[in-house]
Amino acid sequence: MTETRLRFPPSPTGYLHIGGARTALYNWLYAKKTGGKLILRIEDTDAERSTQESIQGILDGLEWLGIDWDEGPYFQTDFDADHVNAAKQLLEEGKAYKCFCTKEELDAKREAAQANKTTYGYDGTCRNLTPDEVAEKEAAGLPFVVRFKVPEKEGILSYEDKVLGQIKSNYSEIEDFVIVRSTGKPLYLLCNVVDDIRDRITHIIRGQDHMTNTLRQVLLYEALDAPVPVFAHMPLTLDLKKAKISKRSHGEIVAVHFYRDHGFIPWAFSNFLVLLGWSSGDDTEIFSKDELIQAFSLERINKSNSTFNYRKGDAKFFTDPKAIAINEHYLRTMPVEELALLVKPFLETENLWDDSYDGEKKEWFLQTLDLIRDRFHTLTDFADLGRAYFSDDFPIQAKPLKKNILKHEGLKEWLPMLADRYEALTEFNLETAEQTARDLATELDVKPGVIINGMRTVVTGQLAGPSMFDILVTIGKEKVVQRLRNSPKLYQV
Ligand code: GLU
Repeated sequence: MTETRLRFPPSPTGYLHIGGARTALYNWLYAKKTGGKLILRIEDTDAERSTQESIQGILDGLEWLGIDWDEGPYFQTDFDADHVNAAKQLLEEGKAYKCFCTKEELDAKREAAQANKTTYGYDGTCRNLTPDEVAEKEAAGLPFVVRFKVPEKEGILSYEDKVLGQIKSNYSEIEDFVIVRSTGKPLYLLCNVVDDIRDRITHIIRGQDHMTNTLRQVLLYEALDAPVPVFAHMPLTLDLKKAKISKRSHGEIVAVHFYRDHGFIPWAFSNFLVLLGWSSGDDTEIFSKDELIQAFSLERINKSNSTFNYRKGDAKFFTDPKAIAINEHYLRTMPVEELALLVKPFLETENLWDDSYDGEKKEWFLQTLDLIRDRFHTLTDFADLGRAYFSDDFPIQAKPLKKNILKHEGLKEWLPMLADRYEALTEFNLETAEQTARDLATELDVKPGVIINGMRTVVTGQLAGPSMFDILVTIGKEKVVQRLRNSPKLYQV
């Protein structure tokens, strides 16, 4: 059996967005599944729109997602000569021809067709020029494009799409399309095929938005005597208003780096992306890398478009709820040692990292992550909602401040009293911390909840979180005492 060879050929005209990342992922999965190769090809022929920054962004995004490739990156512009030679070959073999029709002539024909309510297609004026006529026009310096000569076959041109089934068109409906501009520059449609032939691509998984090219590309493969690859066209990803997701209209919310910077776990995000257009056939939605490679198949790529359910507004729940739910799943269940590696850069950015977390305080660090992760959604939460575990300088959220502190004037005295009692404890553990707090509440004749909620607020800054006494033991007696003792300052508004 021949080796499967797939490719990811992004145009470097912006950041890597969720659509591109999903395409890369599907190709990567299929290459892995079939023991084949993935080729990365940067399609940089659009010199005006391609940027170095975008190339770097694509490489960084792929690296973050864990999508590796076996060959490349190749750059389309390095193969300009191949594209020109392919056009020459087609001309020499009589499979393409020079067309001297002017823009004005073509516009007039198009308008006439519109007026007659018929569909316009190039009428083949230059298709049968004799070699002498061509030579004469060239000698006169007339500009020309090169058109592909669509074979005058009767009947139907078709290919079998792995997702959509038989895709077909009458030959008569395909016009002789341009493959080289009047500037001598081959069109993308041709370059793409020439590169795929050179790279011996066997399978092309790409968005349905490229389907307008595919039948014409099938003709080019045949004309260049190359085997036609297997095509699988993926559904598009739409927003809630059914508009296609794009960099231009949706901005950063569809950029892969946005998810990286907002603390998504790379594999969790990939797992989410895969589900935007593929399903396993049962309800399974969480897959490890190996499970997904096993389960993935072209046949199970959805036919219909998927929805990327992002909302503007609340910063925390800015994105598709499923993306968050999957992220939470991994964040809360993955081995804590692996989580620690992912959390570290987010703590570093906020100056919350301490090298001892990799050394003598490693055990404490892992236990702390394990304790607090249960309510967290993204990795940024560790540096944000979890700040009080790693620093004494943390904000008190407005809601618990009002509800749990300011509403209870008595806490101004009670929390420092609790501080004294904690300080006096020789053993500060779950039992002694709880008993001491409850005893104080009984003595003062206040509900234990008042003390406990007040304590949670001043010790963590948060309204909710893990069990209070677990928190106290984790943060440690000294810091707890200090925070309780300083709490009256909160009343000085
Ligand atoms: N460069 C094209 C794009 O970024 C890819 C075309 C293809 O997959 O054939 O959309």
